[in-house]
Amino acid sequence: MTAVLNKNFIAGVWQDGATGATFKNINPAVNSDVIGLFPESGVEDVDDAVRAARSAFKSWSSMPAPARGDILRRIGDILTARKSELAFQMTREMGKPFFETKGDVQEAIDTAYYAASETRRLFGHTVPSEMPNKFNMSIRRPIGVCGIISAWNFPVAVPTWKIFPAIACGNTVVFKPSEEAPHSGALLVKVFEDAGLPAGVVNLVQGSGMTGRALVEHPDVNAVSFTGSTETGSKIGETCGRMHKRFSLEMGGKNPMIVLADANLNLVIDGLLWGAFGTTGQRCTATSRLIVHESVHDELVGRLAERAKAIRIGYGNEESTEMGPVINKKGLDKIEYYVGVGQEEGATLLIGGKRPTGKNVENGTFFEPTIFTNVTPNMRIAKEEIFGPVLSVIKISSYEEAIRVANNIEYGLSSAIYTNDVATAFRAMHDIEAGITYINGPTIGAEAHMPFGGVKGTGNGHREGGWEVFEFYTETKSVYVDYSGKLQKAQIDNVQD
Ligand code: NDP
Repeated sequence: MTAVLNKNFIAGVWQDGATGATFKNINPAVNSDVIGLFPESGVEDVDDAVRAARSAFKSWSSMPAPARGDILRRIGDILTARKSELAFQMTREMGKPFFETKGDVQEAIDTAYYAASETRRLFGHTVPSEMPNKFNMSIRRPIGVCGIISAWNFPVAVPTWKIFPAIACGNTVVFKPSEEAPHSGALLVKVFEDAGLPAGVVNLVQGSGMTGRALVEHPDVNAVSFTGSTETGSKIGETCGRMHKRFSLEMGGKNPMIVLADANLNLVIDGLLWGAFGTTGQRCTATSRLIVHESVHDELVGRLAERAKAIRIGYGNEESTEMGPVINKKGLDKIEYYVGVGQEEGATLLIGGKRPTGKNVENGTFFEPTIFTNVTPNMRIAKEEIFGPVLSVIKISSYEEAIRVANNIEYGLSSAIYTNDVATAFRAMHDIEAGITYINGPTIGAEAHMPFGGVKGTGNGHREGGWEVFEFYTETKSVYVDYSGKLQKAQIDNVQD
């Protein structure tokens, strides 16, 4: 097994934090399993890391982009070779089952190869000039030092959505993983080192929200990319706005699945089990609201409850486990709080609502798959992000009502509709207020080469993934080449009044 890599990585050197302060990282499925003590980095560490990133920027940004792509390809190769090892450690640290963490690493692999290929496609435009003997074009330049702050639920995939396009474009990076997933972050950075990424191009500082804040507030950080809660994202947005930094925010979700009367219920049930209870419901894209037509409501809910009750809960590195723990005690308390809220609001607790008992779950922070029925659109459990295996079921009687309910929230990340009517599916693509809509598939399952992000309270207009993220990590410069040999005045010489 890999030794625990519990240090910062600054200017190509693995090192302890400046103050020596640490925080403890434990296995959420087996709380007695301490993974290690990690540096609680302070302002001094962040400053060192930003300085390292700044000094690496000149040579890294001057390297031909396809040569940067060669390194990204090597990163993809090493990730492929270490897939199981990384997945095992990730499951141990944040809980989702081994088959899911393998998917997490695969997403990073796909992102590495995709970013490598994009280094040959960092296109600008050539544009006709309004003047004779003049040539206009746009070119793209890197921004500088990027601060990358990520959540714990996709500890490898999500950082790579940010880091790979950032470095492909010639930027350098300071990366702060979540304090719930520092080891996965360190193992990822070790892959970069082993692939020959030059020192200082990606620096790692471990720590809590205070470390993240120091990074966001550092005057020499030019751009910030953040994934996490809407509450934290809003604070980061305020700081970045005040300091004139570019920033990308990917935040919470309360994702609806609409099921119409003509839907294939077998497909719906498989989709719901994966969408609502995959990653123990702790995904920004989790299906947390089922908006179902009254004609199929009872049958669907009955069959779903039977299947959900049978989900095998346990430590994700055990082969039989289908659903792992909640990340920590705080997460568990929040879920329990919302179960109480739902009951007080008058919803019916159909299944779950409590911590499971038994030998394989007694040492971890587990929660049962939970379904509330008789939920109405304005209840808090229909509108607020719970971030756990809790599904709120809302009955509707028409397509129009389904869309009204789906849009009745402050978030707008992912969404789904199940119908066999092609016209309805196309209407829904336009009517649902979300950054992502799945037709006949659950709300989760992004592909690396597609834009990913949300509208309303989920995001601030940027996208990760796909071709769009390359816009975030570059500045456009407009270049005018005048070869007329005389002064030409745009807007003046061409129009004689
Ligand atoms: P948090 O907002 O608590 O934390 C996210 C990251 O921000 C962590 O690294 C955290 O550090 C850091 N942080 C906390 N406070 C500050 C601050 N003031 N300044 C800078 N950084 C700070 O989110 P969670 O980790 O609990 O993740 C869950 C949330 O993430 C959910 O709301 C989920 O929906 C969202 N999410 C969104 C995704 C998307 O793409 N839209 C994808 C995945 C998750 P630390 O935790 O170490 O204190």
